Amino acid sequence: MHFYNEPLLLYMKKIIVAIDGFSSCGKSTMAKELAHETGYIYVDTGAMYRAVSLFCIRNGWMTDSQINEKQIEKHISSMNLEFKTNNQGENEIYLNGENVENQIRSLEVANGASRVSTLGFVRLELVHQQQIMGQHKGIVMDGRDIGTVVFPEAELKIFLTASPEIRAQRRMDEMIAKGEVVNYNDVLTNVKERDDRDQNRAESPLRKAKDAIIIDNSSLTPQQQQEILRTLFAEKTLD
Ligand code: C5P
Repeated sequence: MHFYNEPLLLYMKKIIVAIDGFSSCGKSTMAKELAHETGYIYVDTGAMYRAVSLFCIRNGWMTDSQINEKQIEKHISSMNLEFKTNNQGENEIYLNGENVENQIRSLEVANGASRVSTLGFVRLELVHQQQIMGQHKGIVMDGRDIGTVVFPEAELKIFLTASPEIRAQRRMDEMIAKGEVVNYNDVLTNVKERDDRDQNRAESPLRKAKDAIIIDNSSLTPQQQQEILRTLFAEKTLD
């Protein structure tokens, strides 16, 4: 559904929308929907860190107990990441030409993503790619450092949050819907571990940008949340 008619969109100022926040807050759903409604490009930067994680796991550079930084650093620039649109109009991530959208959604890969994302050279490479994607604006990007590092000049910055228990329940429901067998306590532990790593890493820790607007969606319906975002987007683009 479009909330502006097409001709009006042509005259609206193109902006960058940065959506940051904790894991499993619904950032992607929110960002995707806004991009769809406005015709903006949507970029899920978490998918990029997840694809790096998958690449490292597959090559044996990251196990439960160790991480081979030398090998990762040596190969990071030869790794090709791309987003392509599928038949339903959704972006899917490709790693060296292979569609890995489903493989990157496991708990193992998510956990690995939060580990590889602590490495400065990994962040440098991915931030550079993300900045190129947004150079012409008209983009909605979600992640942890979009408003602080990737696009500190973004016109609209959102910091999305919800309690860890609610986020774990939402993540578990998503996984069950995909037919996975999961335990609530495992998912909650994973959510808390990732929060801790995201907030306490030395490289670009998760922080609210000074000019970001906080939305706590613990007790908001998806419709209420989207209405808030639409209003904020309209304020920034029509002024
Ligand atoms: O958002 P998602 O859960 O898919 O992200 C996977 C992991 O990638 C996060 O736990 C976080 O550690 C990392 N990440 C990051 N910076 C971003 C996006 C994701 O460090 N911009």
